[in-house]
Amino acid sequence: MSNENKTIHEFELNLICDFFSNMERQGPGSPEVTLKALSFIDNLTDKSFIADIGCGTGGQTMVLAQYIQGRITGLDFLPGFINIFNRNTRQLGLQDRVEGIVGSMDELPFQNEELDLIWSEGAIYNIGFERGLNEWRKYLKTGGYIAVSESSWFTDERPAEINDFWMNAYPEIDTIPNQVAKIHKAGYLPVATFILPENCWTEHYFALKIPAQEIFLNKYAGNKIAEEFNELQSIEVELYRKYKEFYGYVFFIAKKIKQ
Ligand code: SAH
Repeated sequence: MSNENKTIHEFELNLICDFFSNMERQGPGSPEVTLKALSFIDNLTDKSFIADIGCGTGGQTMVLAQYIQGRITGLDFLPGFINIFNRNTRQLGLQDRVEGIVGSMDELPFQNEELDLIWSEGAIYNIGFERGLNEWRKYLKTGGYIAVSESSWFTDERPAEINDFWMNAYPEIDTIPNQVAKIHKAGYLPVATFILPENCWTEHYFALKIPAQEIFLNKYAGNKIAEEFNELQSIEVELYRKYKEFYGYVFFIAKKIKQ
């Protein structure tokens, strides 16, 4: 990557961070769905060690932390998100056992077989579903769980407009049975799979984007990259409204049953 590109890339990352810092979540989800996914996990105690990978500002982590007694480390590569994460833990009095750290999901700072649970909502796509499942497995104890949410196709065929959008954004998006087969192939027992209800997109994600877009556009008025980024956010909302019967987010919960 040339220096010039790097500067542009960093600038864009700052914009993205700035935009999403004004939102409680950085992807579709809800406290109810986080707790539903957690209800399939039965190995946790106050000695457990949990990682929340691609935690963002920690919307889901703070929910988890109020229901799990163990130690939780949230990891994200954007320092701005981690600052907000750690501010949230202090506000909730959770700082003794919940910590946000800056790091990359392709080089996790954990020991082999150290984790009881790997959580990751709306983030595994950054490394790729299969690669994440395969590479993160070694950090889990035998009997440990992984719970990830990931975009999925609901049908084998779909209109070209939405197909093209996803092929450009994330070609690894797949149907639910194919994703479950990948979980099995990566050496886990698929325990549960459920589709996130529509309100995870509309109420808990898109509705929060509207005020964030307003703040953002005021701050970066006249900035071309910011305007393009903002436009992309609106396209995402529009496409979901139009094509939500063809895709959505799915939670996958799986267990590592052998070393
Ligand atoms: N789990 C949060 C955030 C989801 S958005 C929620 O559901 O609200 C995806 C997150 O992954 C962002 O916070 C982004 O900064 C983070 N991310 C992207 N690439 C990453 C990488 N390589 N390593 C760690 N975090 C990454």
